[in-house]
Amino acid sequence: MGSFCEPSSATLRPVSNRDYGEQDCALARALEAIGERWVLLIIRDAFYGVRNFNDFRMHLDIPKAVLSERLTGLVDEGILRREPDPTHAGRHLYELTQTGRELWPAVHALLSWGSEHRSTNRLAFKHIACGTELTGRGDCPTCQVAPPPDNIMLEPRPGAKSRRQDPVAIALGGPHHLLEPLLPRAAPPAD
Ligand SMILES: [Zn+2]
Repeated sequence: MGSFCEPSSATLRPVSNRDYGEQDCALARALEAIGERWVLLIIRDAFYGVRNFNDFRMHLDIPKAVLSERLTGLVDEGILRREPDPTHAGRHLYELTQTGRELWPAVHALLSWGSEHRSTNRLAFKHIACGTELTGRGDCPTCQVAPPPDNIMLEPRPGAKSRRQDPVAIALGGPHHLLEPLLPRAAPPAD
C-alpha cells in the first residue's frame, strides 16, 4: 500500500567495533548498549510514544537497514520490547521495557544540556501532577520530586515550530504524555 517494508535484520548485526572490551567502567558497558549512532534518538522517540518502524524511519530519516539493526540491538539489550503489530500482519511495535525507561534521566539530561549549550529545545517537559516545567536536572520545583516518565508530559514552547513535517513531528505539535502511543492506528479495513 505504498508504505515501507520492515526488512529482515537477521543478517545485519555487525561483528561490531562498538565494544570497549578493555575498559573497566560501567560507562563503557552502557555505551556498548546505547552508544551507537541513532540509538539515543530512537530511545528519545520511544519515550515520545513512537512505536512502529515506519514512524521511527520517517521521523529520523534513517536508512531502513540501519534502523532495523538498531531496533534489533535494543531488543537484544533488553531496552525495547518487540511485539506483533495487531493492525499489520508481519510488522512489529516497539516499546520501552522498565530497563529502557530507566534511561529517562540520562536522555533528559542530554536534552537539557543540548538546549542550554547548543539550541533551545522546542519542547518543554512538565510534571503531569502539577503542570510545572521540570528543571534541567529533571525534577519538579513545585513538588520537589523527579517524576518518572509516565508522569511527564511534553508541550511545545510558545512560538516554537518544528522544521519537520513528518507525522511524528506534526503529532508533537501539541501536548502529549510520555510513553503513550503518539500515533495510534486503527486496524486497516477488510478487503
Ligand atoms: Zn510537580
